[in-house]
Amino acid sequence: MSDLIETLRKTSRGEVSEQVALASRTSVRVGGAAKLLVRPRDPESLVATLGVLADAGVPWFTLGGGANTIIGDGGIDGAVIRIAPDFCSDEIEELGDGFTVTMGAGAPSGRFVSLVREQNGVGLASWASGIPGTVGGMVAMNAGTPSGSMADCLEAVEVATPDGLTWLGADKLKLSYRHCELPRGAILTRARCKIRRGSEAERAHEQRAVRLDLDKRRSSQPLTQPNSGSVFVNPLGNFAGRLIEAAGLKGARRGGAQISTKHANFIVNLGEATANDVVELILLAMRSVKNAASIELHPEVRLVGTFTPALPPELHAFHRLPVLLARTAAAPRKETNP
Ligand SMILES: Cc1cc2nc3c(=O)[nH]c(=O)nc-3n(C[C@H](O)[C@H](O)[C@H](O)COP(=O)(O)OP(=O)(O)OC[C@H]3O[C@@H](n4cnc5c(N)ncnc54)[C@H](O)[C@@H]3O)c2cc1C
Repeated sequence: MSDLIETLRKTSRGEVSEQVALASRTSVRVGGAAKLLVRPRDPESLVATLGVLADAGVPWFTLGGGANTIIGDGGIDGAVIRIAPDFCSDEIEELGDGFTVTMGAGAPSGRFVSLVREQNGVGLASWASGIPGTVGGMVAMNAGTPSGSMADCLEAVEVATPDGLTWLGADKLKLSYRHCELPRGAILTRARCKIRRGSEAERAHEQRAVRLDLDKRRSSQPLTQPNSGSVFVNPLGNFAGRLIEAAGLKGARRGGAQISTKHANFIVNLGEATANDVVELILLAMRSVKNAASIELHPEVRLVGTFTPALPPELHAFHRLPVLLARTAAAPRKETNP
């Protein structure tokens, strides 16, 4: 292991640590440790790092801001790769009536919104303000609200695999409601979005709408307690929160976790929750809504790593384990930005 760590330190040119507790790296603050945590310095170092992990047979998982992820209490048997906020520099390119903005996948979503606002861009703030996490997480989840989502502005992404860096058009990602299909094991390194410039009146109108939306979030969501946002995607034509509330589950507790008394589609950590407590509430909500309304709820949150006890069959489709990709090319390739 110490040889591997030494090699990873050289190739990643960044932080490499062993047995890193992950709970504090997710917004709901539950879960175990990662065997290894690696923060490569830039996209090229990331490709080299993936090559080393592939050769050593160590699977990996990418964690962004952890705002949509529940790590199992058994942690991650492999490497967690985190993309730092300064992994790539932000780039603005002028277009006729707007601009493109290219940001590193580790950039905080708030920085993305601020940068677009500084450039007098419109459209993004109306849905992205108030969504925590990173640009990589926003793409991987196609984050959004009823006012819009990443799919509305995303033009292309750069991804890393052990073979190199490749740009993919957004049309290749099958973006839909909280869904994005990346090539297996690929890690997002950069995202490029197209933004329109708005008039002063349009920008002022958008800012007023954003303030109202943030006030609404503060009054309707448990933002002062650790949580991972909406636990379930909304079933077609319905709201998961409304269904869970109708099943009488607001305030239900398992160990240190609770179905929020403010919004039934949020599970909060009251202080000492385990991932298993959260999973028990997820199952309680799924089973109760199925019994009461014959509707199947599907988790929006990502259940990652080793759960103890193991997840039951109804959650298998939503369970993610670290991935191992072998190198296929002899030399790393870098495709140019389309
Ligand atoms: C209070 C609160 C409110 C929220 N409100 C909303 C909302 O209104 N709308 C909404 O859509 N979401 C919302 N969320 C959920 C969350 O903010 C979004 O899903 C966000 O985009 C997750 O980003 P992240 O960086 O934290 O992702 P993470 O939780 O770290 O990761 C989520 C998934 O993305 C993958 N991923 C992350 N980075 C990369 C990368 N570089 N390459 C490949 N895969 C990657 C991870 O592997 C994981 O599968 C909310 C969450 C909270 C806590």
